[in-house]
Amino acid sequence: MSVDPANKDVFLDLLRDGFGDSVLLGEAIPESCFSDWTGHAACRPLALVRPTSSEEVSRLLRLCHEHRRAVVPQGGMTGLAGAAVPNADSIAVSLSRLTGVESVDRDAATLTVRAGTTLEVVQNAAKEAGFRYPVDFGARGSCQIGGTIATNAGGHGVIRHGMTRDQVLGLEVVLADGRILDLMNGMIKNNTGYDLKHCFIGAEGTLGIITRAVLCMAPPQGEPHTMLCGLPNYKAAVALLHRLRGAGLALEAFEVMWQDFYTMSCDWRDSQPPLPTSHALYVLCEAEGDANHLETALAAAIETGEVADAVLASSIPQAQALWAIREATGEFPLKLAPINFDLSLPIPTIGAFVEAAGAMLQQRWPGISIVNFGHIGDSNLHLTVNGRTLAEDTPETRHAIEAEIYRLVGEYHGSISAEHGIGLLKRDFLHHSVHPEVMDVMRALKHTLDPNGILNPGKLLN
Ligand code: FAD
Repeated sequence: MSVDPANKDVFLDLLRDGFGDSVLLGEAIPESCFSDWTGHAACRPLALVRPTSSEEVSRLLRLCHEHRRAVVPQGGMTGLAGAAVPNADSIAVSLSRLTGVESVDRDAATLTVRAGTTLEVVQNAAKEAGFRYPVDFGARGSCQIGGTIATNAGGHGVIRHGMTRDQVLGLEVVLADGRILDLMNGMIKNNTGYDLKHCFIGAEGTLGIITRAVLCMAPPQGEPHTMLCGLPNYKAAVALLHRLRGAGLALEAFEVMWQDFYTMSCDWRDSQPPLPTSHALYVLCEAEGDANHLETALAAAIETGEVADAVLASSIPQAQALWAIREATGEFPLKLAPINFDLSLPIPTIGAFVEAAGAMLQQRWPGISIVNFGHIGDSNLHLTVNGRTLAEDTPETRHAIEAEIYRLVGEYHGSISAEHGIGLLKRDFLHHSVHPEVMDVMRALKHTLDPNGILNPGKLLN
């Protein structure tokens, strides 16, 4: 979207007149608005607007629509796909002043919140009401509910509670032309035609700006049991998943670590590995329910050879020590110069995919090393290339590796983004996971809702 400099000045005057203190220009715009967590393509936007009400968002979008100005919605800027990155001509819209939990309905087990409220504040409000908001991940203190909805964020509890989409009952969305769409349904059952809220969930701010939401709360969490198992192969991991699902337990986590991941993580810790490093795979699982059910299921899994060895945590510190092995991913950025992949694949094929990806990369880039773990119960594989093992770590090599992995994902009928979204970083690879007809419908929807193409242009679709 090109901008005529004369129009730019006229537009900035209109912005200042219409939005006063909500507008920041030039040096006053904080660097935190230049890029998201990835630091990708950092750029100062033309202006930053920080509305305090849905009506203000509506007036702003109407103005931008009339003047064909690109608008980039910004939440907590913790995204991992470059989806909230502005360019020099765009108007960044920060939702950070549209905050607060408006109400808690204990009877319906719902919360009504403004989009700029952080995930952590929402979790605490649910806890105070005797419930829990089950979406959770490391960025909880900074990411905003609007951002988690716009990215359909996943995180730790997906195997039991589903993605963010599954927690959203209602939304208020401001369309590109400024119309406010009231989809603030608070009822679980409501079949009245197209459920339009779903168009905006996971749309990465390309179809509208989310200003409010009605969210479901789940019952509070009980005391979970945590265990680590050593397994002979991937098939055994799928069998164990199936067994635990049928054991009368509520499975909270089923994290699979391949041997390379487990060995490396244990090397990084000072303590003795809880299980020897000789197993092909390790499963860390957490389940709520009767401990006898878990022990019975484990005994049966050992009997059939699915599980070769296991350790059950008998205290919270022991459970935390087991989780620390899996959480080595936090050290990846410093230690591995990683190329991260957030993939989804049909569960039975993940083991074969890991082998095929390893062989393919090794053939093309000899000496390359990858480490793998996944939330396999959610069909989510995190494949990580250790950038330090590349003979030449250049942007071109990284791009070529991405292209090869995403091509293989397409062959396995998987998804190039399990939970982080497409944004700028994966846009050019989207065709590996989305059929041309589906892409056409996505473009048609975009054109219908945003005919001037002002909302987050260049993200998700090109
Ligand atoms: P931003 O980064 O600001 O924006 C993300 C996208 O949403 C952009 O397209 C933006 O335009 C759009 N957007 C933001 N607010 C609105 C709005 N109100 N209306 C319309 N569009 C909007 N993700 C997972 O799924 N699972 C994880 O386990 C996970 N772990 C993470 C751990 C860490 C340490 C970090 C840094 C990130 C992690 N993420 C994870 C990434 C996750 O996508 C984001 O943290 C979060 O969902 C984005 O929220 P945000 O408010 O920061 O959005």
